[in-house]
Amino acid sequence: LLVLGIESSCDETGVALVETRGPGVPVLCAHALHSQIEMHQAYGGVVPELASRDHIRRVLPLTQKVLGEAGRALTEVDVVAYTRGPGLAGALLVGAGVACALGAALGKPVLGVHHLEGHLLSPFLSLDPPQFPFVALLVSGGHTQLMRVDGVGHYELLGESIDDAAGEAFDKSAKLMGLGYPGGPALSKLAEHGDAAAFKLPRPLLHSGNLDFSFAGLKTAVLVQAKKLGDQLEARKADLAASTQAAIVEVLVKKSLAALRQTGLKRLVVAGGVGANRSLRLQLDAACFAVGVRVHYPELHLCTDNGAMIALAAAMRLQAGQQTASEVYAFDVKPRWPLNSLSRSL
Ligand code: ATP
Ligand code: MG
Ligand code: FE
Repeated sequence: LLVLGIESSCDETGVALVETRGPGVPVLCAHALHSQIEMHQAYGGVVPELASRDHIRRVLPLTQKVLGEAGRALTEVDVVAYTRGPGLAGALLVGAGVACALGAALGKPVLGVHHLEGHLLSPFLSLDPPQFPFVALLVSGGHTQLMRVDGVGHYELLGESIDDAAGEAFDKSAKLMGLGYPGGPALSKLAEHGDAAAFKLPRPLLHSGNLDFSFAGLKTAVLVQAKKLGDQLEARKADLAASTQAAIVEVLVKKSLAALRQTGLKRLVVAGGVGANRSLRLQLDAACFAVGVRVHYPELHLCTDNGAMIALAAAMRLQAGQQTASEVYAFDVKPRWPLNSLSRSL
């Protein structure tokens, strides 16, 4: 079964072809990505209207590129999958509209995929794919969640951020240090040359006794520290970056371990853009090794948004018996859509 996947929920246009051969993990045939980061940089964040228009420009050329690289014809595609939500409504509508138009033209069914389910399942495309059940730490630009995952579509929310996401904490702290947008990767690069113990920053909700997170206060603490430094900020930036990263990473690691203890599971899956963070990977690996837990990550280039994870999630859903939509003229998108509400639709 050949699945074409289209991702357009935010500022990345991603297209991919995934093939299922029997019950095994689906295989990635080819994928292509266009990031709009440069376009939005001048505004310090994503401009929704510009994002939608750029998705329109990119999606078909990327589709042709993917088909070419995989050596497959469009008519060979069996199912067209797209990101149905959550995300920016106008951006989602581009992927949904194109997917449904392709489906109608080809006479093939379409499948709307949950963006976070894509992130969550993306480690299955790595060389060391996980097995169910596992605890998932979903750390992206818009979400920070711990979930118990018993299979495709079986997601139990254990805890989540009550305000900013971890990626947002990276981005907002980076922004007020003048590191541009999105600042997560820049901040973590700078942090490599800094002293993580240089500044005392809060570890929000570390001892809350539950699995929720809060990162809004941390960003404020970074701002206060930056103001206090004044002229010295430039010279101490690496130290502040390292201290900020250490605060975020410590909370993510400790809460993940608490979730593993609470569920009794021995497997952790990390997904989402912040999963690319080197310090998070090193510290999770060490902490999990010490308690006999295996950790699985997506390939580095599949941590942030991409089409491969959308095609994969669709393929795994089809393997699990998910029905496709035949009514391609009545599609909709879901800008807000909790992942744990999905269980019921399988
Ligand atoms: P969501 O998936 O919740 O809708 P999103 O799609 O914007 O949000 P992702 O694409 O998963 O999020 O990830 C983007 C986020 O990952 C950004 O906040 C970015 O700063 C962060 N990020 C990427 N690489 C790193 C890194 N090496 N260290 C820290 N943060 C990083
Ligand atoms: Mg993005
Ligand atoms: Fe994402």
